[in-house]
Amino acid sequence: MLILYLLTYLYQGDGYLYRSKIYLYNTASKRLEEFIPRVKNEVKMYVCGPTVYDETHIGHARTYIAFDIIRRYFEYLGYKVTFILNITDIDDKIIRRANEEGKSWKEISEYYTERFLEDIRALYIKEASHYPKVTEFINEIVNLTSLLIEKGYAYEVNGSVYFNVDKIPDYGSLSGQRIEDLIAGARVAVDPNKKNPLDFALWKAWKPREPWWSSPWGPGRPGWHIECVVMATKYLGEVFDIHGGGQDLVFPHHENELAIAKACFGKESFARYWLHTGLLTIKGEKMSKSLHNIIPVRDLLKKYRAEAIRLYIASSHYRSQLDFSIDALAQYEVTLDTLYAAHDYLVSVIGKNVSNAEELLEREEVGKVDKEVLENVNVLKNSFIDAMNNDFSTPKALSILLKFARYITSVLSEYEELSRTTILKLYIEYLKMAEVFGVLNERKPPVDVEKLFYELLSLVIELRNYFRKQKMWSIADNIRDKLGALGILINDTKYRTLWRWRRK
Ligand code: AMP
Ligand code: ZN
Repeated sequence: MLILYLLTYLYQGDGYLYRSKIYLYNTASKRLEEFIPRVKNEVKMYVCGPTVYDETHIGHARTYIAFDIIRRYFEYLGYKVTFILNITDIDDKIIRRANEEGKSWKEISEYYTERFLEDIRALYIKEASHYPKVTEFINEIVNLTSLLIEKGYAYEVNGSVYFNVDKIPDYGSLSGQRIEDLIAGARVAVDPNKKNPLDFALWKAWKPREPWWSSPWGPGRPGWHIECVVMATKYLGEVFDIHGGGQDLVFPHHENELAIAKACFGKESFARYWLHTGLLTIKGEKMSKSLHNIIPVRDLLKKYRAEAIRLYIASSHYRSQLDFSIDALAQYEVTLDTLYAAHDYLVSVIGKNVSNAEELLEREEVGKVDKEVLENVNVLKNSFIDAMNNDFSTPKALSILLKFARYITSVLSEYEELSRTTILKLYIEYLKMAEVFGVLNERKPPVDVEKLFYELLSLVIELRNYFRKQKMWSIADNIRDKLGALGILINDTKYRTLWRWRRK
């Protein structure tokens, strides 16, 4: 009995939240690990943002939707999440694009940053706590670079500063590669300036037609990897919970970020868990701006609903490779309709569009049928949590959400006696689960409700007149009285039925 009580306690409401163990795959340890936040009930996460020189494509969307779902799941469990998504607004590619188009690097990066933010918002990706831009952190980058030189981890050559990877004994541990293999595999042009071919730039000396900032080593601009160390630690501290990005960033970007962080802040610093999304491919090739095979998010959104795109992305595990298929995506339009149907049916039974379901809950005696329904909801909820706790297994979790939708439809059509409380609870739990996937955002009626009202009223009046013609007076009177109770007064005149509002 006690065990049963405990289990019910653990699995219901807030009591469950922090007792549920999340296991996630940590790229650093290459195994599933229990997630233990540094600060109780809080998650601090950093995800590498885009280099803004071209349109946001569905490959980016895959990564950002995946992390958005992870963030939303933490929030579902009651964690407070700080989510940082940076914008790389200065980089070789931006400069190249600017020079090609005869524009300034700033014009290019501002234009594409704006479009990126529009795109991710259109995809219902929740707002990040901050969207830091590299160029807002030049001072901090210069300071950290100086510190690395002071500590003996970096060296300057001809106005550029390089990080010396030989100084980090376990360099390569994140990507699980040995230094020798990395050197053999690295397609880095031999650079006489570097002590080790894997050394990477913290600061790049100015070249003609490039923007520059002043530094102790002369004019130049920051290298890529150090920017994320600066921005992550600025907002999240020297040690934080999760660092994410696509699989393509493990090496060299994240390996190098980690090397910098260890050198600056100590061996145990930086992200505790490294999460990487599998790449979205198209005909087996990575979708990428440089391979010219991108499908921009905004093009896709002209034909498919953002929420269908989200469901499609959620239908594959975030770590697996996903080969893009328009036919597969199209199927999720149907899935989305099934999800909305359950929502609309619930609203039709509740009798109004509810934005405050929690407040409407009444302390009501629940009958046997209600208990059975609520137990089934709990089972669905627990299996959803189990799926998500298992390294955010969204394909399984999505199948449970769909099962929930079908269950709602069947309960509403088959059970005669359901309390209002039960229906509201179904509504609340269903929406909470849907919110993890970021769907069912469009809950308002997709029509002009005022116009619809006049049309429906005409329909009712037409029906009533039909009954009058058939001399079915009691039905006709009943309709008139019910309309009257709703504040609509009927006046049957010679040629037409008029109606007016009860004003007082
Ligand atoms: P980028 O614009 O290349 O700097 O990438 C920004 C983020 O999107 C990084 O986390 C990348 O790993 C991720 N990303 C880029 N292309 C893809 C892709 N084809 N599939 C999944 N993630 C991607
Ligand atoms: Zn980064």
